[in-house]
Amino acid sequence: MNSTGLGKRIAYMLCLTIACFSFKDPEPKVKSAATSYFLDVAFYNDQIIKWSGPIYVEVRGTLNSKQSAMIDSLVSITKTAIGKDKIARVPVAGNFVIHFTKTLKEYQAMYTEDLFDVPLGYAKTFQYADKSIRETHIFLHPSLLKEKQNQVLKHEWCHALGLLSHTRTPFAEENMLSASLYTTVKPGTAALPALDREALRYLYNKGIFSGNNRSEVIQKLNLLP
Ligand SMILES: [Zn+2]
Repeated sequence: MNSTGLGKRIAYMLCLTIACFSFKDPEPKVKSAATSYFLDVAFYNDQIIKWSGPIYVEVRGTLNSKQSAMIDSLVSITKTAIGKDKIARVPVAGNFVIHFTKTLKEYQAMYTEDLFDVPLGYAKTFQYADKSIRETHIFLHPSLLKEKQNQVLKHEWCHALGLLSHTRTPFAEENMLSASLYTTVKPGTAALPALDREALRYLYNKGIFSGNNRSEVIQKLNLLP
């Protein structure tokens, strides 16, 4: 083939490619229980707040082997949602610290916010100027036992990763951030419910950044509001 023939062929292929692009239907916008749940729980003052660097999970206090296995399973399930290099458990010097407090005195000493009710657990989050999370501490009330403790831990775990709000929408599927969580505790599985895993997957999408607002996120993820 001479060079003119090759040129024609390339030009023809280019036209075909351009035609394919111009006739392609736009991607349909997405709306599902998972996206509604994500949009309900992922914003704090209409802003995304998420980790940008690696998360090192450290546990302080006394815990038994079942509790330790629970932390390992949360780390592993979170890896599958946000990326395997994003989170790991470490023995010391973590930036994501879970405190298993033993006495009420110890718990109250750490609990500095002035709320009417002492909560069963809480997550205290520190941010950089760009709103990304620098460090977080989860505290669990010493009276919590077994399944109840797991439920509170999973709830605070979601907050500590950046799902900072609650939802009042009644979802058919199990989730950790319903406002009614503490009155409807059912025995859950060791893993995080699917709605929470999906919400973390959306939150840790590479195109989503701390400080993004709701309409920016809806546009970037091609969601239906
Ligand atoms: Zn909460």
